[in-house]
Amino acid sequence: MAELDFPAAVEDEAAVALEIVVPFYDEAAALPALFERLRRVFDEAACTAHGLSSVRIILVDDGSKDGSAAIAADAIRGGFPATLYRFSRNFGHQAAVSAGLSYSGAALVAVMDADLQDPPEVVLEMVDAWRAGADVVYAVRRNRKEGVAKRAAYHLFYRLYRFLSEVDVPVDSGDFALLDRKVVDAMESLPEQLRFLRGLRTWVGFRQTAVTYDRAARAFGQSKYDWIRLYQLATDGIASMSVRPLRIVQFALISTAVLTLLMGMGLIATGALAGDLDPIDWWGLAICLAVLGTSSVNLVCLYVLSAYIGRTYLEVKARPGWIVQEVVGAPAPGKVAD
Ligand code: UDP
Ligand code: MG
Repeated sequence: MAELDFPAAVEDEAAVALEIVVPFYDEAAALPALFERLRRVFDEAACTAHGLSSVRIILVDDGSKDGSAAIAADAIRGGFPATLYRFSRNFGHQAAVSAGLSYSGAALVAVMDADLQDPPEVVLEMVDAWRAGADVVYAVRRNRKEGVAKRAAYHLFYRLYRFLSEVDVPVDSGDFALLDRKVVDAMESLPEQLRFLRGLRTWVGFRQTAVTYDRAARAFGQSKYDWIRLYQLATDGIASMSVRPLRIVQFALISTAVLTLLMGMGLIATGALAGDLDPIDWWGLAICLAVLGTSSVNLVCLYVLSAYIGRTYLEVKARPGWIVQEVVGAPAPGKVAD
C-alpha cells in the first residue's frame, strides 16, 4: 500500500475511492501490525482487481495514553496514507467511529477495528458486494473467539435487541461494514448525539447485505469493552433506537394498577358479604402481595424511565460527541476537523 493514496492509480472509469475508518484506544501493540497488514491487503494489484482508485485510512485516536497516537503520526509522516484525528480524551468507541464517518468524503467508507479482529481482506469482499448492488455491506460473525460468558452475553443481547428495538438490526453484526456515500450522508443527517451506529445503519435503510467472516481472536492487548462498557453499549443501543421498553412499562403499570384495583374491590365485596373474618384475612394477604408486586413493578419501571430521562437530558444539552485536539495528515477534501 506504499502509494495507496495515489490519485487514480487505477485508470478505470468505474474505479472508486475508499476510506477506512479505524478507531483506536491504547492499541500501541496492534498498530504497526495493522498498518503492515493494510499495506499488504490493499496493494496495487488488489486495488486494480477490485476497482479502487485510492485507499485512505481515517485513524481516530480515542484518547490513547500508551503512545498509540505517536505511532500513527510517525507512520503518516513516513508516507502511510492516513489522516489521524486525535481526541482530547477518551470519548468512546461509538464516538470515535462517528467522528471518522463525519470526516470521511470518499464514495465508499469502511469501518473496522484496530486490533485486526476484523480482517481487512473482508473489506475487499465488501467492495465486490457493493459493486453487485448493495449500499451497505455489513459483516456477520460466523464465530467468536471470546470466552463463553461474553459469547453468551452477545448472543442474548442481539436477541433481546431484536425483541425490544423497532428496527431489525441483523444479529451478530457489529460495526465492521462498508457504506456507500449516500448511506454515510443519511447517517450524518441524523441529529442525535448518542450514536449506536449499527442501529442507525439499519435504520437508514437502502439495500443492505451481509458477508460472513470468522472473527479472529485479539492478537494484541486486551479488549477495551469490559462488562460495564458492554452494559452501557447495550442499554444505549436499546434506549437510543426504540421506545418499546417504555410501551412495555406502560402496559406493566396499567395492568398492575387494574389488578390491584380488582383486589381492592374483591376485599370490600368479600368483607361486606362475609359473616366472619376468614375471607378478609385471605384478602388481606392478597392485598399485601399486590402491594409488594406493585412496588417491584414500580421499581423496574423507574429503572426504565430513568434510562430514558438520562439520555434525553444529554441529548437536550446537545454537546458535541467528541473534541479533536490535533489532526495529522491531509484531511479529506472538503472536510475540516471541527
Ligand atoms: N476503542 C475505542 N475507544 C474505546 C474503546 C475501544 O476507540 O473507548 C476501539 C479499540 O481500540 C478497537 C475497537 O474500538 O479498535 C473495538 O474495541 P475492542 O477491540 O476493545 O472491542 P471488542 O472487539 O472486544 O468488542
Ligand atoms: Mg476487538
